[in-house]
Parts: sequence; C-alpha cells; structure tokens
Amino acid sequence: MADLAVVVAERMEAGAIGGNVFTVTSSRGRAPDGLRRLRVALAPGAPVALCGTARGLDPTLRTGELVVATELRTTDGSAPRVLPAAPLVADDLHRLGLDVRCGPVISSATAPSAREGAAFAAAGAIAWDTESAWVAQELPDHPLAAVRTVVETGRNETIQAQLRAVGSLLGVRSSLERWARAVGPHHVLRAGPRSFCAGVERAIEIVERALERFGRPVYVRRQIVHNAHVVADLQAKGAIFVAELDQVPDRATVVLAAHGVSPAVRAEAADRPDLMVIDATCPLVAKVHHEARRYLTQGHRIVLIGHAGHEEVVGTIGEAPDQISLVQTPDDVADLDVGDHEQVAYLTQTTLATDETAEIVAALHRRFPRLVGPSGQDICYATQNRQDAVRALAPLCDLVLVVGSTNSSNTARLVEVARREGCRAELIEDASDLWLEWLGGATTIGLTAGASAPDTLVTGVIDALGLLGPVDLTEHRTTEETVQFALPRQVR
Ligand code: SF4
Repeated sequence: MADLAVVVAERMEAGAIGGNVFTVTSSRGRAPDGLRRLRVALAPGAPVALCGTARGLDPTLRTGELVVATELRTTDGSAPRVLPAAPLVADDLHRLGLDVRCGPVISSATAPSAREGAAFAAAGAIAWDTESAWVAQELPDHPLAAVRTVVETGRNETIQAQLRAVGSLLGVRSSLERWARAVGPHHVLRAGPRSFCAGVERAIEIVERALERFGRPVYVRRQIVHNAHVVADLQAKGAIFVAELDQVPDRATVVLAAHGVSPAVRAEAADRPDLMVIDATCPLVAKVHHEARRYLTQGHRIVLIGHAGHEEVVGTIGEAPDQISLVQTPDDVADLDVGDHEQVAYLTQTTLATDETAEIVAALHRRFPRLVGPSGQDICYATQNRQDAVRALAPLCDLVLVVGSTNSSNTARLVEVARREGCRAELIEDASDLWLEWLGGATTIGLTAGASAPDTLVTGVIDALGLLGPVDLTEHRTTEETVQFALPRQVR
C-alpha cells in the first residue's frame, strides 16, 4: 500500500497535524492548486486522510473532541461517501487517550445557519466542515479516513479555546498512518476446528436447559466456561455466577462449571441437600480426576503438569493436596520432592500446549525412570485439534488472530503455538480488540478461536477486517470433530 497522504483545508491545520500535508482551499469552485497537486502526487489507490477542524452539530460534542467520519455528506444531494474503517480509526485514537466520536460529517462551502445546522443534525450529521465531502468526491478510487477536531459548538468558545481544540490534531497522524498501513485486501485463513468443543457446548446447554426446566435464576459456581461473552449471554438469560456455594441461597439450582471441582466442593454441595446441584464438569476433566484417584489408591505420588491457579488444576489437586505436586515448566522437575522415586505418576491439565507438555514429560521420565502416566496425554482432543490446526496454518500467515478470553488456558496456548511457528499472533476477546498496528503488512491473516469462544465472534472479526478492504476467506480445516457428551440426568 502506498504512503498516506494527509489533506487539510488551511495552513493552521497543517501545522497541527505536522509532517507532509496537502493544503487545499475550502472553496469548491476555484479548482485549488492544492487539490491539483494532490491528484498528481497521489499513487493509484493511495490512502488519504482528510483532517482539520469542524463545527459540532451534536450538542453533546465538546471543543477539542475528535470526530471520525463514518460518512461524508454533501448539501447538493449527491450520495454520501461511506468510510467503513471509522470505528477502527476511532478505537486507535481512543487508545492514545483522545476523546473521539464517530458519526456522519456534512460539508458545505459556507457555514450553515443555526436552522440549517439543526436540520443537518436532525438528519444525523454530528459535525460540519468546509471541504471533506467534496475532496472525497475528487478521490473516488482512494481509501479515505476523515478526522476533524471540533473547534465550534455554538457555545461562544473563546479564540484560545478554539486554538487549543486545533491542538487535538497533534496526535492523529500516527493513528492515520496505522490505518493506512492496514487498509487494503486481506486473505483470511480460518482454522478448523476452532471455537466450541463438546465440553463447552455441553456446559452451556446444561445451564440453558436448567433455566428452561427449573426457571430463573440458576446459580453457576464460577464462570461456566472461560469466556466473557458466554457468561454475559447466560447472565442475560437468568444465570447468576457466584464464586462459592455459600453464596447460593437455599433450595436453589446450582451448576458446577466445566473445569471441575475438588472433592471438598462436592462435599460442601452434599451437605446442602436442599440444593439442586447439576455437574457440568467436562467428562474429559472428570477422567483426569478419576485417574488421580486410581493412582493415589495404588500408592503413587502424582505430578500434575498444569498452570497454577487454573480452576481445573485447583480441582484436580484438591483430590489429594498433600500427594499431588504441580509442575509448570521442564525446569520445575529438578525441584520436585516426591519421596519414593519408584512410585510416581503424572497427569496433565487438559488444555496445555502439546509440545511444551511433551518436554516436561520427557524431563519427568529422565528423573523418575519408573514414571507411569495416562496412555497418551490427558490433553483433550479439542485442545489437540485446535493446536494442530493453528500449527498447520501459522507458517502460511503474516499474523494469527486467536479469539477468546485471556483467562482461557486453551486459547492462550493457541497464541503460543502460532508464535512457536514463527508467526506474529495476538489474543483478542472480540472484534473490538482488533488493533490497526497489528494489521500493517499483514495481508494473510490466520483466524481461530479457543474452545470456549463462540464462532459468532470469529465472524465478527472477519466483518471488522472487511472494514479495511475486501476479504478473501479460505477455510483451513485439518480434521473433523464428531465428539458429543451426554447431558446429566437432571436436564436430559
Ligand atoms: Fe472438555 Fe477439552 Fe473442551 Fe476443556 S477443552 S471442556 S477438556 S473438551
């Protein structure tokens, strides 16, 4: 993509923006030299930013607030120029700490009267300027962004206040350059499998069915799965999330989250026979608990490979806190104090990175030659499949975006897998987390989602990339998943 060209109407605005700027006059009929120079200088398809001052039409705008135009309207009845990337530019400016509003901007050569301004505002325009729309008409084949600083609001601003407002333009060039580097066509490789696994689908369905069958509210101990959108959606349907069972009132229905719980939590639930307790523990997590109990019965000390503080790990260690030691890295293995080296077993958290876990298991085998463990690892099919899919596509990409919440272990591992393949990778909660600076130079983008992230969020990211230019989407599927888990009897 060619370099950004910044266009302003007046020299004062050029001074505030800084750097190389094309200055055009604001009178359309005069075929200004600046515009002619601009047309000659512009490379085909080069991104152009229209910057300068504006009058606020929305009465809630304040002087110095920036308006990022979503469309540029004229007063001559011609079709408005839509600027789809406005929300991404506005987010970038927000991150710089600037006050920003998005909305339509209308241009006319002469300042509107109070009545005209009110009519523009009634039609949805939030700001007026002298030139953006007609400069845009001259540049139909160039991607455009328009950022204006509000210098007038009709509240009798002093000259000093207006000059200070012009100063808001000081920070905008860097954002616009990030937009210019990001704008253009993108090839998206969408990983498959991605998004919900069978354990997450089951857990969500359990809460939804409990709400249908037993009515609102249904209490859920901890996040049912580690995704903020899923939690918010279930809250809207009537679920109440609590940290501990003592926050659940008598005779309520309560669901235990997919990550599993320790025997102590089960005992606490059993002590409250008035509660309807529905267990949404993923059967693959339950299998790890079962293996832990089996090894303990056989007299083994257990080494659990996992991440400290993760709810699944807390639940598994709860099977026998004095008999289970946690290791998180190969280096931790040397420090283990497990007593009898002949009686050591290992287990793993279900959502770890397969490569990293293999290194730890190898270190354990070196230290404890009679080590026993599960046949294969406990890393679940969904974690494995999502990692394999990312491993396959990352070498083809300039950037991999992983959709999911930061507290989701399997999601964080997908980022690590992509980075281990030498690809830039970022974790995003949803499309609103998309940063323009990541997209500069990224023409092929890999896209996946953790097992707890809804696929609608992936679609939202594709839509957001579409604001920057055409998106060519390819599904990059490495395997099909057919796993399903039965529901607990209370909600069948
Ligand atoms: Fe179960 Fe694996 Fe999904 Fe976790 S990621 S809920 S262990 S299927």
